[in-house]
Amino acid sequence: MGCGERLFGILFITALRVSFSLQGQTRMIKTPHLFFITLIWWVWSGPSIGLAEGEREFSRHREVMVAAQIVDRGITDTHVIRALKKVPRHLFVPEPYRDAAYTDRPLPIGEGQTISQPYIVAVMTEALRLRPGDRVLEIGTGSGYQAAVLAEIVKDVYSIEIVASLGRRAAETLKDLGYTNIHTKIGDGYKGWPQQAPFDAVIVTCAPEKIPPALIEQLKEGGRMMIPVGRAGGIQQLVRGVKRGGRLETEVLMLVRFVPMVAD
Ligand code: SAH
Repeated sequence: MGCGERLFGILFITALRVSFSLQGQTRMIKTPHLFFITLIWWVWSGPSIGLAEGEREFSRHREVMVAAQIVDRGITDTHVIRALKKVPRHLFVPEPYRDAAYTDRPLPIGEGQTISQPYIVAVMTEALRLRPGDRVLEIGTGSGYQAAVLAEIVKDVYSIEIVASLGRRAAETLKDLGYTNIHTKIGDGYKGWPQQAPFDAVIVTCAPEKIPPALIEQLKEGGRMMIPVGRAGGIQQLVRGVKRGGRLETEVLMLVRFVPMVAD
C-alpha cells in the first residue's frame, strides 16, 4: 500500500466521522473510538508501504535499464524486450546486490559464479531466434534469470546446473515466481539432457574450450546454439551456431568473458 492509499484511508475514516456528526449521530463514533480506528489503520497499513514502494522503484529501474542498455544498443526483438521488462532481475541476485540489479554489469550470485550482464542476456536470447512453441536447453542455470527470460518467450525451458546449492536456489526462485514451464536439473551440462532432446535451441552460459558434441547432437536440424568458447579466465568468443546437414555452422558474434564450464 502506498503513502497515498494510507492517507486516503485516514481521510476516509475522518470523513465518516464528519458525516455521522452532520447527521447528529456523533455518539456512534466517539472521539476515542475514532482515534483507536485510525491507530489500527495506521499500524496495519504501515509495513506493506515499504514493500510496494520498493517494488515500484525496482520496476522503474527495470524500465530505464531496458531503454538505455537494451533498446538503445540495438536489440529489436519485441519478445526479448518484453521479457526483460517483465522478469524481476532483483529477485535473482543476493540481497546485498539487489540495488545494483539493473546496472550494466554481471553480479556475483555465490559459489564464485555470476549472473550475466543484462545486455549479454538480451544478445544471446535474440540470437537464438526463438519461436513461441520452442523447447530450449540451457547449460548453467546459475541464478535462474536467463531461464526466466527464455520461459517468457518459449513453451519449455530445460536448464542444467552443476553446483547443487545454486541449482536448488534457482529452482526455488523460479517456483516462487510461478514459472511452470522451466524444468531444472542438477548435473553436468557436457552431457546435455538426452531424455528431453531434441531441442530447438541450446544456450550455454558458461564457457567450455570446445563445443560439447552432445549439445550439437541434441540440437534439432535447423536448431540454433549460443555458446561462449575459449580458455578459462580469458576472453572467449561468443559463437552462434545453426545445425545444418547434421553439423554446426558457426559464426563469432563478439568477444565475452564468462565463467568456465567445469566437468563433473
Ligand atoms: N545463466 C545464469 C548465469 C550462469 S553463470 C543466470 O542467468 O544467472 C554460469 C553457471 O554455469 C554457473 O552457475 C556454473 O556453476 C554453471 N556451470 C559451470 N559448468 C557447468 C556444467 N558443466 N554443467 C552445468 N552447469 C555448469
